[in-house]
Amino acid sequence: MVNSPKTDPPADRRLERPARAESREVRELRELKNAQPDLASAADMQIELLGAQRRVQARVPLPSAAFDQRKPDHHECRPALQFKEIPIDWSDFRLMIRQTADILRRFETLELSDYERIQGLARDGQIESVVATWYEASMAPARRKSDTRSPERELLDQVLLLAMRPFLSRCAEALLPRLELSDWHLPCCPLCGGEPEFAFINPAAERLLICGRCTGQWRFDPITCPYCENKDRNRITSFTSRDGRYRIYACDECRRYLKAFDGRDGSRPALLAVDSVATLPLDAAAIQRGYQS
Ligand SMILES: [Zn+2]
Ligand SMILES: [Zn+2]
Repeated sequence: MVNSPKTDPPADRRLERPARAESREVRELRELKNAQPDLASAADMQIELLGAQRRVQARVPLPSAAFDQRKPDHHECRPALQFKEIPIDWSDFRLMIRQTADILRRFETLELSDYERIQGLARDGQIESVVATWYEASMAPARRKSDTRSPERELLDQVLLLAMRPFLSRCAEALLPRLELSDWHLPCCPLCGGEPEFAFINPAAERLLICGRCTGQWRFDPITCPYCENKDRNRITSFTSRDGRYRIYACDECRRYLKAFDGRDGSRPALLAVDSVATLPLDAAAIQRGYQS
């Protein structure tokens, strides 16, 4: 018997059927890919990274409830969340490291020697102290003198950041809403001390910074450079993407720049995974003007 093609969906449709609720990020990345084929490879890599993060994040338990009543120190970039409070399952973390390295390698953003070094780290018995050191050391103030860091160190930090994201973003979801942030005016993340990676301009025209580590958001002055705290608006160069959805704030003091999604029209929240790919052309424009991320 031959199946009637009318009752059997075409094979490609079966394969494409999303694994139940496909996340908004993945949907938006697919749309972005169709609209801008130049960004297809970057979008595909991001979809795979999101998939790996999601599978692990679904297993991360709620962080400890002893967090209530805690106020971050408003004078210093000290994270409210202590390293030992992050609910890390170390075998899941090792899995995240291996999968992150596999994905970066497959999309040719990792040299073979770096790939092998990172795979070795996933097997290393010292991994817990490597991650603890990273958590303490890559807090915003230390990062400001980024010129002293070697390319290997930068790369390792990037992989650790991606591999820690399921654990840290679970903490941000559960704990950030419980922090009292009305007095928090610092440019580092009040939860984990991370540096901002992106910004969101909300419908009230406020600027929120988005943490590169836990993806938590907090309000920050709309003009001040979050990397050197330069407040002189004549020393901040701002420009937008062609469609006006994204904005860059480039600092003429420290030469670093911050990208933002302009959500004043209320169309959607910022989606870090989508927005970082959609703004790759803006990165190129900023770098061409002599700024660095
Ligand atoms: Zn954070
Ligand atoms: Zn600056």
